[in-house]
Amino acid sequence: MSNVEYKVADWWKPLDNGKILCTLCPRYCNIGEGQPGFCFIRQNHGGKLYSIGYGRPSGFGIDPIEKKPLNHFLPGTQILSFGTAGCNLGCKFCQNWSISKAKLDDSNSIAASPEDVVQLTKKYHLPSIAYTYNDPTIFGEYVVDISRLAREEGIKSVMVTAGYIDKEARKDVYKYIDAANVDLKGFTDKFYFKQTLSHLNDVLDTLLWLKNETDVWFEITTLLIPGENDSSEEVKKECEWILENLGDSVPLHFTAFHPDFKMRDKERTPPATLTNARNIALESGIKFCYTGNVYNREGQTTYCPGCRSKLIERDWHSVLTNNMYGNSCPSCGTVIPGEFFN
Ligand code: SF4
Repeated sequence: MSNVEYKVADWWKPLDNGKILCTLCPRYCNIGEGQPGFCFIRQNHGGKLYSIGYGRPSGFGIDPIEKKPLNHFLPGTQILSFGTAGCNLGCKFCQNWSISKAKLDDSNSIAASPEDVVQLTKKYHLPSIAYTYNDPTIFGEYVVDISRLAREEGIKSVMVTAGYIDKEARKDVYKYIDAANVDLKGFTDKFYFKQTLSHLNDVLDTLLWLKNETDVWFEITTLLIPGENDSSEEVKKECEWILENLGDSVPLHFTAFHPDFKMRDKERTPPATLTNARNIALESGIKFCYTGNVYNREGQTTYCPGCRSKLIERDWHSVLTNNMYGNSCPSCGTVIPGEFFN
């Protein structure tokens, strides 16, 4: 792996008071000399903003793509996965906090240029790269440079994100992105602000933009936390919004929470809560809804919305059988939205 120079960031402007305004995400941090923004890895040095996560992943993994989770994008394949230190959200229930809450110094980061990342992907014959573990929005410059090179090599790029990104910056960050999983962490602004220190409307705006102004394939994940965002009413409202604004074909994943970080006083999500949410989604008209972080073959299998044939049977993150005929159901010919073959 090569050493990488600290990179001057995109998406910022100097302020009259000597500080810098970071315009990458809706937090719009005012950053003084020598200081980092909220996410730790964008820092003001000498009146310039630096993206200090650039070229410094916290490590690489190879995961099943179903773990992102994506169920309608290259199913059954493995994906090179990495993140950096830091995060632009402040989720009290973070399930990955040892990375997302780390500063660069204590995350044992390694040096890897965009070329190194693409070479690593090729070395293991992987069809795609996931920007994941923490929120890739905050290392957007690195995402752009890797995804551009990856596309030249026929390798796909996947954002696993909370969707909390500025309207202008996202046009650049997603330029070479092929797919995304967006966390919709709840469906009230009260929950969003109290538990994640961000706002629901900014995330909904990103979902609308993905749907209406890009070709990015995307799926949505909601981590259900007992007593916080798991009521039938809230789930129903979320499903109604998705149906009305994004249509019936965006896959929706309800996943189980485990006690972690600053939320250790809650129980694990009971499997019945996930099944209840999935039933609400299916009854409301959403065609593809899945349960995650539990063993539940029924909730993880893709069924044809036309004839109810089993198309892709899964168990946790494993694909057991894949009966797809190209992008279609082999029994009735219904075209299934997504990208099923590389
Ligand atoms: S990307 Fe980081 S520094 Fe920039 S506004 Fe968001 S939290 Fe602040």
